[in-house]
Amino acid sequence: MTSLRTLAWPLCALLGAAPGARAQDSTDARFQALRLALVDTLRHHGITHAATLAAMESVPRHLFVPAELREWGYADRPLPIGYGATISQPYIVAIMTQTIRPRSGMRVLEVGTGSGYQAAVLQAIGCRVWTIEIVEELADSARSRLLRLGYGQVQVRHGDGYLGWPEEAPFDAILVTAAAGSIPPALLEQLAPRGRLVMPVGDPGGVQFLELVEKDAAGRVSRRRLEPVQFVPLRHGTR
Ligand code: SAH
Repeated sequence: MTSLRTLAWPLCALLGAAPGARAQDSTDARFQALRLALVDTLRHHGITHAATLAAMESVPRHLFVPAELREWGYADRPLPIGYGATISQPYIVAIMTQTIRPRSGMRVLEVGTGSGYQAAVLQAIGCRVWTIEIVEELADSARSRLLRLGYGQVQVRHGDGYLGWPEEAPFDAILVTAAAGSIPPALLEQLAPRGRLVMPVGDPGGVQFLELVEKDAAGRVSRRRLEPVQFVPLRHGTR
């Protein structure tokens, strides 16, 4: 690898390919500057969890959106990714991530893979991540994107996340990135004692609140409302 690269650079320069490479470098630098500015905005909006901010500073969100939307990759807003799905607003990703208090080695289940961005942020923190997506095309493209961008340890499954991932349970944390009127019972069961689950709960087309569910050491569950949000619906049993 290394030797190939050292050989390839002078060759590129000789063939006049270097200007292209420089253009790519400056594009990367520009996106990196936009990413840092976004993370600053998140800090100003009250995100304090250092590992969450560091992860969002490192994950190239512009490569998780459709090519024609790359320029919008670091705007603090959701973007369409096809099949009726969206990549969540960065602020919401940050809130959900810091709410589960992620640590390296923690086992996290995500329901609603979408682009794979949230899963990449969790892996960048060092979490072990299992993620489920009901739209097969999205599951396949997220799996290959995650692999290509260096987040290949994330396990992606095509299926109905309403049922969780029983073979890998229990999970220290569960993030649901699609809204439903109530929390799927299988997910509550698959949450470990002292675990945290975050999910948008409410009318899929109307008012939804992000809810935090905490399970204590004895398995008792308590719930707390965080803030109003708008997510795509959690589908159940259909494609
Ligand atoms: N977390 C994603 C954004 C998710 S958008 C990201 O970082 O990009 C919500 C996703 O949930 C959509 O892709 C939708 O297809 C998926 N979804 C909806 N119902 C689902 C279900 N029952 N199981 C798994 N995924 C589901």
